[in-house]
Amino acid sequence: MKKHNFSAGPSILPPEVLLKASQGVVDLDNSGLSVLEISHRSKAFVDIMENARALALELLGLEGKGYKALFLQGGASTQFLMVALNLLEKRAGYLNSGSWAAKAIKEAKIYDDVYEVGSSKDANYNYIPKGYEIPEDYDYFHCTSNNTIYGTQMKSFPNSPIPMVCDMSSDIFSRTLDFSKFGIIYAGAQKNMGPAGTTLVVVKEDILGKVSRKIPSMMDYKVHIDKGSMFNTPPVFAIYTTMLNLQWLKEKGGIAAIEKENEKKARLMYSEIDLNPLFKGFAAKEDRSLMNATFTLENENLKETFETMLKDAGISAVNGHRSVGGYRASMYNALPIDSVKALVEVMSELESKA
Ligand SMILES: *Cc1c(COP(=O)(O)O)cnc(C)c1O
Repeated sequence: MKKHNFSAGPSILPPEVLLKASQGVVDLDNSGLSVLEISHRSKAFVDIMENARALALELLGLEGKGYKALFLQGGASTQFLMVALNLLEKRAGYLNSGSWAAKAIKEAKIYDDVYEVGSSKDANYNYIPKGYEIPEDYDYFHCTSNNTIYGTQMKSFPNSPIPMVCDMSSDIFSRTLDFSKFGIIYAGAQKNMGPAGTTLVVVKEDILGKVSRKIPSMMDYKVHIDKGSMFNTPPVFAIYTTMLNLQWLKEKGGIAAIEKENEKKARLMYSEIDLNPLFKGFAAKEDRSLMNATFTLENENLKETFETMLKDAGISAVNGHRSVGGYRASMYNALPIDSVKALVEVMSELESKA
């Protein structure tokens, strides 16, 4: 039986995308060759890469606005240092909204001065810091749009006077935003975009070339842009599957259409958390993530019963991250609303049993 997959990452992909990807592994578009055994310089693969890059910009509404899309390796974690290497000359401002944000700060501090414009660390990151100011004379401002571990999400973004860099790993392509507010958007593929192994980086070209340091080639956005995201052998399977998933999203009506479904799923989930006295939401209500709902079971004695019921209902991977505890339901684009219904049903059944 196919499970209800609430995994936080790597996470759920649409079944039709998995099927197409697996067909491409055996025989790519009736070419007699696997996508894994052709040259990345072949027309077939260059087309896949160019299609994936174009789809990313198209879905974000950034075509013709001076942006380039790259599919790199090393995960979002490599972007923590790559952003600093390419943009940090004197000082940068960071919003410390979770442990991924804190890791980005740690890497940037290797290169230069970093200032935390705001932090919610004191409350175990259960809210998004607000009311902060971004100094005009800094090189860039860095934020994390969705804090995967804590289940908080930025509902609005500042009008930054300096380039705004955003780690969108866990909510990319999930909601409409004015993406042209950002200088750099990056996202590891494995949350809401594709398989692990590639990272989307969307860069506004005119913010580059302003630092005095020498940048190693693999770390240099300009090098990757000049080479069409093919400076070296790209992770072909991850990019192929990501392209298929972006096509799936486009056919569904793009970000605006999926956003409506994501809102419905989140409403269903949070109303159960709020109405069921056995459960308590972790994140501050106004900052609740549409992607990752975090909650705890108030009565520890019911834990075993609840987890057995989850298992029997085919519900997988709702365990919380170790730094928050409790449960986390990740409701990425590919998760059907029926899976949320199944989870909510188990929660209310537990209430009637208790
Ligand atoms: C998962 C995650 C990361 C880390 O991604 P990797 O690709 O594993 O390096 C960074 N930021 C956020 C917000 C994440 O959810």
